[in-house]
Amino acid sequence: MAKRVLITGAAGFLGSHLCDRFLAEGYEVIGMDNLLTGNIKNIEHLFPLKEFTFYNHDVTKFVHVPGEIDYILHFASPASPIDYLKMPIQTLKVSSLGTHNLLGLAKAKGARVLVASTSEVYGDPLVHPQQEEYWGNVNPIGPRGVYDEAKRFMESMTMAYHNFHGVQTRIIRIFNTYGPRMRLDDGRALPTFMSQALRGEDVTVYGDGSQTRSFCYVDDLVDGIYRLLMSDYTQPVNIGNPAEITLKQFAEEVVALCGSESKIVYEPLPQDDPKQRQPDITKAKSILGWEPKVDRAEGLKRTLEYFKKHI
Ligand code: NAD
Ligand code: UDP
Repeated sequence: MAKRVLITGAAGFLGSHLCDRFLAEGYEVIGMDNLLTGNIKNIEHLFPLKEFTFYNHDVTKFVHVPGEIDYILHFASPASPIDYLKMPIQTLKVSSLGTHNLLGLAKAKGARVLVASTSEVYGDPLVHPQQEEYWGNVNPIGPRGVYDEAKRFMESMTMAYHNFHGVQTRIIRIFNTYGPRMRLDDGRALPTFMSQALRGEDVTVYGDGSQTRSFCYVDDLVDGIYRLLMSDYTQPVNIGNPAEITLKQFAEEVVALCGSESKIVYEPLPQDDPKQRQPDITKAKSILGWEPKVDRAEGLKRTLEYFKKHI
């Protein structure tokens, strides 16, 4: 019998790629999503498969899935700053109440659960690059607090279920990831820059563009998630591409790749926008044997193909 995996946030960017990967590995996949920020088109191609089932359900409400479940991947949550600023309460609820429901389900079913945490647990970091041991620098009452603190609560709740109920848990801290199926208007840097460049509009860099991020291609991330789930490591693990770049350089790369005439304009930096971010992936390398394989030039080329078709 094929193993059964429940993926929440299945209609989103990362969730839909995870559905593809687990189906390709021979699993039966149950996708769950309430389509808050996701798009059913991301998983439409899976509907004819008998190994795929979809539940349109809000995971902050009691989660019921009949039958056995071997693995649960909790990826439901608004993830882009403009999304979680528009939906602060839903964002807080999905990583708190939603995580509680899924841990309860995991306990009831004897399933292993992996939760999608984030580099945002490090906030505007005072340690660089960020190692898993760093506790972070988060403003709990700032605009990003609704996301960052919800994810920190998610990690605490997950460790509590592991320590007190013996649930098998895994925690991944995901750094900025990009690729096909990002929503063109989700406000994150890559979709915004690429859409603007393809339309010949001004490319909006916030602040002076000296803040840094480290962008990971989605296929690499999915491979890291798969390896962590199959490992026996229960502490948080960073997964991301350590190639760090300023947002100004990143915008220039995207404009050049698109062959665009767009010019770069500067807009005010949002409050609490982290100044620098780069994963220390020593643990992922040594424990999971994982490191990214797709460099930015290749990843951006693959993403551009998708954006050209969907603009
Ligand atoms: P996304 O917005 O594309 O996908 C999230 C999905 O969750 C959407 O389909 C949305 O409809 C669904 N959802 C939201 N609230 C829900 C609820 N209450 N019940 C059921 N479904 C709900 O975002 P993404 O980029 O795919 O991110 C997926 C996960 O990975 C999130 O938990 C996010 O915090 C985490 N993450 C992503 C990144 C990244 O760079 N993409 C980085 C760090 C962490
Ligand atoms: N950013 C930008 N222009 C945009 C969108 C984002 O300069 O149109 C900046 C943003 O201020 C941040 C970086 O790009 O410094 C990454 O932003 P994103 O929303 O992609 O992710 P996060 O801030 O969560 O890392």
